[in-house]
Amino acid sequence: MSNDGKKEITLPFNLSVRDLAAQLNASPVQVIKILMSNGVMASINQQVDFDTAAVVASELGFTPQLQKEEVKVEETGEIPLWRRVIMDEDPTKLENRPPVITILGHVDHGKTTLLDAVRHTNVAGGEAGGITQHIGAYQVTHKNRLITFLDTPGHAAFSSMRARGAKGADIVILVVAADDGVQPQTKEAVNHAKAAQVPIVVALNKIDKPDANPDLVKRQLAEIGLQPDEWEGDTFVVPVSAKTRKGLDDLLETILLVADNMVIKANPKGACIGTVVEAKLDKTTGPMATLLVQNGTLKVGNVIVAGESYGKIKAMFDQRHKRIDKAGPSTPVMVMGLDHLPDAGDLFQVVENEREARQIVEGRKAERESRRSLKRATLEELFAKVKSGETKELRLILKADVRGSLEPIVNSLEDLGKKEKDISIQVLHSETGNITESDVALAAASNAVILGFNVDVDQNTKHLAEAEGVSIRVYKIIYRLLEDVEKALKGLLEPEMVEKVIGTAQVLATFKVSKAGMAAGCRVLDGEIRRNASVRVVRAGEVVFTGEISSLKREKEDVRDVREGMECGISIKNFEAFEIGDIIESFVMEKFGG
Ligand code: GDP
Repeated sequence: MSNDGKKEITLPFNLSVRDLAAQLNASPVQVIKILMSNGVMASINQQVDFDTAAVVASELGFTPQLQKEEVKVEETGEIPLWRRVIMDEDPTKLENRPPVITILGHVDHGKTTLLDAVRHTNVAGGEAGGITQHIGAYQVTHKNRLITFLDTPGHAAFSSMRARGAKGADIVILVVAADDGVQPQTKEAVNHAKAAQVPIVVALNKIDKPDANPDLVKRQLAEIGLQPDEWEGDTFVVPVSAKTRKGLDDLLETILLVADNMVIKANPKGACIGTVVEAKLDKTTGPMATLLVQNGTLKVGNVIVAGESYGKIKAMFDQRHKRIDKAGPSTPVMVMGLDHLPDAGDLFQVVENEREARQIVEGRKAERESRRSLKRATLEELFAKVKSGETKELRLILKADVRGSLEPIVNSLEDLGKKEKDISIQVLHSETGNITESDVALAAASNAVILGFNVDVDQNTKHLAEAEGVSIRVYKIIYRLLEDVEKALKGLLEPEMVEKVIGTAQVLATFKVSKAGMAAGCRVLDGEIRRNASVRVVRAGEVVFTGEISSLKREKEDVRDVREGMECGISIKNFEAFEIGDIIESFVMEKFGG
């Protein structure tokens, strides 16, 4: 504690919003909001400097200090829980474990081919053909040492999945095609690896291609902060061809070299924790999950909690689908016995018994529900707010597949906004690409709605949106998107009200009634006179009074309405001066056009 009673916190020169949030025990959305209130627009993966981070830290009740150089990398940034568990172990109990590797890189740069090549040449146990089914992780041997590979999906849609892959790994292999160089997803992968504080080994792939230009790519790598080792930098760049399998041994050798310079340990007898790599529903066995054990030893019969699922492990299988009864650190295993499918990226933990497991899961569900009930920007709610005058701005985040469709949509939205004088449309952020968790975080922080055109939303993003109460709408036709926004805007504006006459009656006689003063004996000429509708008294074409009916009677009975051709007695609030021949119009207010 510092003198002023605030908690002290040490922050590095630079860190991502996500890491900052984790360090401050806050949600990324909270951090983004504070940044916004200080005029800084930042996304979840964006790096902020110490001065900026310090402002956020102070607002959250911390006394920030700049981290001194000698602090180990492991102790900074967002440390995944499994790492913390290992750090809390008695150091004398720690044993070496195989390094866990994940392969990241731009689409088509050869991630899948490289993984396959490694798998087929080096599968642990030597039976490459034995791996028949994709389970999301596998182990290979190189020089009698095990290496665990995580096989994260490579599509752009799985950006958050890759971020998690990086978090579960010890080393990232960044695949960069020598004929294509550094591309957007290459940079994104570097950010993920840096955010997770995981070292990068570059696999400079496709060197067999005639148009490969390794030197150019190395320069590009240096530009994004990955200075190649041959240029005195600390990033190993290994030329490979996943296709001809050239350089694969060098790559594995380099991985082991990097691993040997790191502390890659766990306590096989310690608390068992790890990460869900993949989960699938099997028709005969129910939920099957591939888990990567990261500390402790997982055994058949253990009760585990994984995200919001739990269960007693009935059976475990290795990568060749062979039954096993235990699995130590860095081992991927398939388990049977969970009650639901957990999400890839969820942590799993062994707990005492099923009662405890149930309690944990119920707690997590309740927490998610309570966060959801703090609803933010569903489209409808935003409209309601605009309507009630609470907000005068409809904020949108727009994602589209290609730049060519982004621009016309933004232009049309802006035009729509100009047409409405009481509300404005603000497109906070528009970009090509799928809807990601950082879009959701931005939407949550700024009360915006996310509109997508021809793009995907992955499961994790959907879950985050649900948890944060952010509304995402995806369209395949531009017209529909605009139509929805327009409809919504119409809904927000005070609907234009018009009067609709529903019936007329003529005064035939006037008479005194004790309580209500003067009343008129009338005949309904057309339509109906309704007790709850408004009335107007018209005399010689002029309106002499407009008001409400105080009583409507048919033969002394109070009635709700009187129809055409019938006679009735009408009294009007605050009006007694009926004259024979007056026309009484019954009318209601209706929204224009319906
Ligand atoms: P991913 O999207 O990163 O998983 O890329 P893929 O592994 O699917 O590879 C994309 C394309 O590049 C495929 O047609 C591969 O056959 C090809 N490819 C991958 N590695 C190499 C390589 O080393 N050399 C050549 N010539 N082609 C490769």
